[in-house]
Amino acid sequence: MKKLNGTVIVTYRCNARCNMCNRYKAPSRPDEEISIETIRKLPPMYFTNITGGEPFIREDIKDIVRELDKISDRIVISTNGFFTDRIINLCKEFPNVGIRISIEGLEQTNNEIRGLPDGFNRGYTTLKKLKEMGMKDVGFGMTVQDRNAADLLPLYKLSDELDMEFATASLHNSFYFVEAKNIIKDRPMVAENFEKLINELLNSNSPKKWFRAYFNHGLINYIYGQKRLLPCDMSFDTFFIDPYGDVMPCNGTKDKEVMGNLNEQTWDELWNSDAAERVRNTVRHCDRDCWMIGSVSPAMHKYIWKPAWWVFVHKFLRFYKKQKYSMYELQIVRDLRDGKVSKEDLDKCSTCDMSACVNNGLSELSKEQLKDRTGEEIVAEDIARQSEK
Ligand code: SF4
Repeated sequence: MKKLNGTVIVTYRCNARCNMCNRYKAPSRPDEEISIETIRKLPPMYFTNITGGEPFIREDIKDIVRELDKISDRIVISTNGFFTDRIINLCKEFPNVGIRISIEGLEQTNNEIRGLPDGFNRGYTTLKKLKEMGMKDVGFGMTVQDRNAADLLPLYKLSDELDMEFATASLHNSFYFVEAKNIIKDRPMVAENFEKLINELLNSNSPKKWFRAYFNHGLINYIYGQKRLLPCDMSFDTFFIDPYGDVMPCNGTKDKEVMGNLNEQTWDELWNSDAAERVRNTVRHCDRDCWMIGSVSPAMHKYIWKPAWWVFVHKFLRFYKKQKYSMYELQIVRDLRDGKVSKEDLDKCSTCDMSACVNNGLSELSKEQLKDRTGEEIVAEDIARQSEK
């Protein structure tokens, strides 16, 4: 069987309060969250991302990783880094898993954006402890927006000094983020910060970083609301599974698109179903043009010649002509500078839709619990109960 690229959303519970994601207001009920039995039904994967919500809120996260480890070549867990002890404990048993801790800027910016008490220090301490343990695949993940763009380069330099990975993203809207109002306001300012990062990455001796430079170049293109630089093939050899066992193409759609349910079906039934084919057809015509690592990384591998050519040209220009990367190589960036398009024109190209009804992708039972309590209250009680044990 061909190995796939899968993302397992183990919970929609989250203890952070990020300004660009409302998922913390719409948690899943623990008793409905994906079970070990369902995880055992997943196909072999060459890459598995475990995410949430906050995955380490699940008390059985180790059991989940143990199962996924049997069927995955490589596992990376995305976390806010708050549950330090659980993360360290898990990494002792699985030293080969990757850990990406979301840090949204230097201390003050991060804590403002993520709304986690002492979030920066907790995340940073966790990362340093993991490094001291000898973990190889650890790093930062940063979602760049107007408020933290100035911290992009300093944070990259910090990660570089610590010899850690540095993953970037920018604002997206979708049911997964329970958000439709995310938008970059000052595109040239944010793009300039990406440009500085791209030049740092191209200046390094690491081919992996050169390809990251291409990814960040694609982020500039994305925040200007342009067509993706590479096709999106989500749902063909890539999938997401949500806490309810629903298999989806990605986390970027406005409403949840369901290929089938793994609690009720076998993987083969689901993957080869008419519903899955319909979703693939939707993906083929999708115009949301996301640029998130989950959908871009498989595309960069599949259409390797395109990023490889970009890297070759930029390394050549840098080495032989001493010419740096410029964001103005993108036509749209020049057009905005030259007044050929307006900020309002570009706003219309984004997925930001102030009047959209946000579908949070919750089950009816999970929605039910929100009738008399907020998502924040539910998760806070949940964590308090866990820490009493
Ligand atoms: S562009 Fe791709 S990743 Fe984004 S919503 Fe469409 S199908 Fe999903």
